[in-house]
Amino acid sequence: MNTFLHQFAKSNDWLTSKNSFSLIAGPCSLESEEQIHSTVQEIAKNGVDMIRAGIWKPRTNPGCFEGIGKGGLKWLKEAGNEVGLPVTCEVATPEHVEACLKEGIDTLWIGARTTVNPFSVQAIADSLSGVDIPVMVKNPICPELALWIGGIERLYRAGITKISAIHRGFSTTEKDAYRYSPVWEIPLKLKQKLPDLPIICDPSHICGKRNLIENVALTALAYGFDGLMLESHVNPDKALSDAKQQLLPAQLSNLIKNLKAAKTADKITRRLSAKQDN
Ligand code: PEP
Ligand code: MN
Repeated sequence: MNTFLHQFAKSNDWLTSKNSFSLIAGPCSLESEEQIHSTVQEIAKNGVDMIRAGIWKPRTNPGCFEGIGKGGLKWLKEAGNEVGLPVTCEVATPEHVEACLKEGIDTLWIGARTTVNPFSVQAIADSLSGVDIPVMVKNPICPELALWIGGIERLYRAGITKISAIHRGFSTTEKDAYRYSPVWEIPLKLKQKLPDLPIICDPSHICGKRNLIENVALTALAYGFDGLMLESHVNPDKALSDAKQQLLPAQLSNLIKNLKAAKTADKITRRLSAKQDN
């Protein structure tokens, strides 16, 4: 029996929101001071709770945009400060953690390609020992619940008390409409095993394209997820990463309005079936 599952304390009411669900939004990558500033100014009008941006972005293939690097952290923090919102950024190494802590980044997240590797997660956990910053753990890129829970447990054992999980879909051999298959039973099993762990959904990476995002977001809320992480960019078609899935701030605003309108599970279920009938 895994004792961690029984020990996991309710330390996780940290992901609070002025809305009925938490909303984290921002560009896939921070590309320039101007881009993060203008995107955040627009996004903040939608009542989001936290701003996201990737600073280190090695892609599947080398030679593409690899992220602005640690010089961008200051711009991210300043953009958040200007609108009074906390900011979050992906970390994959102890050096990333150190740079984020130095710039006062409020929350960290561990990406899908890092959660898959216990060596990397342990190195990050060790570098966080004694620092109780909130950490969000994306599911590993492969559909393996044990690796996801293992990553969460490594952080918990390092003394991190504010943890949440992010469901961003899985690489599978199934060819469906999604970029990464949602395999909903995996996050739902995680919810069952760790009921006190907040779990948010990242429809942007699941979908890979804008037109599917609303339905996946509604499904997540209908399943009782605690929030959403959504990618938004002032000029998505020119984005240096994940161009097809990023929403214009106006589209984000519209989506949030629709999600709030459907906020009771009952209404969400009805909306979903109405959409599927179309
Ligand atoms: C991201 O959030 O931009 C990202 C790279 O996510 P993932 O680790 O889910 O691929
Ligand atoms: Mn992205």
